[in-house]
Amino acid sequence: MQQSHLIKPLLDADYPLADHGKGIFIYDSDGKDYLDACSGAVTANIGHGMKEIIDAIQKQAEKIAFVYRSQFTNEAAEKLSSLLAEKTDNHLNWTFFVNSGSEATETAIKIALQHWLEKGKPKKTKVLSRWMSYHGITLGALSMSGHSVRREKFTSLLEDWPVLEPPYCYRCPYGKEFPTCGLHCAAHLETVINRVGADQVACLIVEPVVGAAGGAITPPDGYYEKLKSICEKYEILFIADEVMTGCGRTGAMLALDHWGVKPDIAALGKGLGAGYAPIAATMVSDKVMEPIQNGTKSIMSGHTFSANPLSCATALAVLQLIDSEDLLSKVEEKANYLQKKLKKLQSEFSFIGDIRGKGLLIGMEFVKGIEAKEPFPREFIFTSKLISIAQKNGLLLYPAAAGLDGRHGDAIIIAPPLNITEDEMDELCKRLREALLELNIDNEGSRER
Ligand code: PMP
Repeated sequence: MQQSHLIKPLLDADYPLADHGKGIFIYDSDGKDYLDACSGAVTANIGHGMKEIIDAIQKQAEKIAFVYRSQFTNEAAEKLSSLLAEKTDNHLNWTFFVNSGSEATETAIKIALQHWLEKGKPKKTKVLSRWMSYHGITLGALSMSGHSVRREKFTSLLEDWPVLEPPYCYRCPYGKEFPTCGLHCAAHLETVINRVGADQVACLIVEPVVGAAGGAITPPDGYYEKLKSICEKYEILFIADEVMTGCGRTGAMLALDHWGVKPDIAALGKGLGAGYAPIAATMVSDKVMEPIQNGTKSIMSGHTFSANPLSCATALAVLQLIDSEDLLSKVEEKANYLQKKLKKLQSEFSFIGDIRGKGLLIGMEFVKGIEAKEPFPREFIFTSKLISIAQKNGLLLYPAAAGLDGRHGDAIIIAPPLNITEDEMDELCKRLREALLELNIDNEGSRER
């Protein structure tokens, strides 16, 4: 191949050339198929090549692809924001469109700060977040992110916003166990707020199910209820980063719906355009918008491509397809089927330490010693080895950080398109088993479950 001028994730790696996609499969230029067990980056939620979406894109492109937001509104953006409001029971009644998850989380905190400013509380500017979290790669979003590895090259430019410990029951940061722990990791928020001073704190941002920074860490029931009530008590806005979890990934529009918790602001991305167009969104409640509506009447944010008709028409078609195929109501059943098969693999491979997640966002954490939960040595590069063996064998898996420091641990995310069939889930597990076998790890002490 001639010299590439593209900056790829690893400059000297030999990536296969993607040719086309159909359903849950991607085909490279040699005709080899890859079963996409992670929807790319938990993004291609309805798989590839869906005719309904292609038709909608073509129809909108023929009409008009771009208008600038300060000159025109457009039908696709209006319809999409209405549908999103409807899908959150008109709680998140307002939507601001952006192009990536990082922009959506940054917009969320800017709106939170503007809310307090216009409410006459200009001192409320501090952002609180959790360790083992990822909210995006731009500097503001990285400041929120408790992702040690992604932060380290830029620490001098970042704010130290991660302060809370994660709700990581497999490795409880406090050495406790649920339910006797009394959800200490949530209750601790109150101490953190009092240390900083509630009059200084604008918002708390959390991923309802931790994605890349933890491998689908899912807190127990009661956790988000507790965080939200503490936020309410101290007048702190509760922001849900639903970039990975939103738009049906867990079987609900927002993952927080599972716990009946309503965020003040939510960020969407990834599954909103399902990979057919770059689009993300910041959704805001009436409560948050009210002082802005009564004040400057404008959000101090925006991007050239915000609310462009082509991306909005694409996302609208994606959400309509999810509805017309009733995909959300089937997520739980599919997730149970897949989890059962993955648990079977766990009984075969002693180094599968934990399987967790919500809906079709499933995490698998690997350990050297099952009892001590000892991680593999760093030099073993377990996760990258597994992922490259799997890809060579035609299976795409998503890497995640694990371990309380986010450095000493190995995990993957399994998050196939929501329209995966049972046969395809069987094939996924078959290919995963082959990759696990090929790792050639001493499987002594393998347990029967
Ligand atoms: N938040 C979460 C929870 C994410 O998983 C991601 C992407 N992995 C982002 C924000 C950032 O989104 P983007 O890569 O589109 O900027």
